[in-house]
Amino acid sequence: MIEQEEEIRKKLAEKGYRLTKQRQVVLEVLRGTQSHPNADWIYQEVRKRMPNVSLGTIYRTLNVLKDAGLIQELNYGSSSRRYDGKVTSHYHITCIKCGRVMDIDLPPFVELEHRAEAVTGFKVTGHRLEFYGICPECYSSLKR
Ligand code: ZN
Ligand code: MN
Repeated sequence: MIEQEEEIRKKLAEKGYRLTKQRQVVLEVLRGTQSHPNADWIYQEVRKRMPNVSLGTIYRTLNVLKDAGLIQELNYGSSSRRYDGKVTSHYHITCIKCGRVMDIDLPPFVELEHRAEAVTGFKVTGHRLEFYGICPECYSSLKR
């Protein structure tokens, strides 16, 4: 636990930031959920522990944590920006009915990068891949 906190401190310090209570709580909230929440949801959760926090502070804190590489921002158009406490490379799948975003437990598809290199001559340094569909809950309510 202490070791993890040291790692967080180090990543923040590399960008010139300090570990504050707010930053710690926002990070804990994000790491404690699989739901890829937006800033409003994070705000409501953080407020349970820090009643005086403002939404503006939440946005600033999210930007700091993102800048330090402790969280990632997922963009689904300008309206719905979501946040992920898991920063290692992984794919997501979005439900086109209810909008939920889930992780896909699959390793990155490196072969796809090799094939893109072969057809373009680029040295490929990364790729993005988004999946869409109907989640099991929405699918079962469709059948009823
Ligand atoms: Zn759904
Ligand atoms: Mn994720």
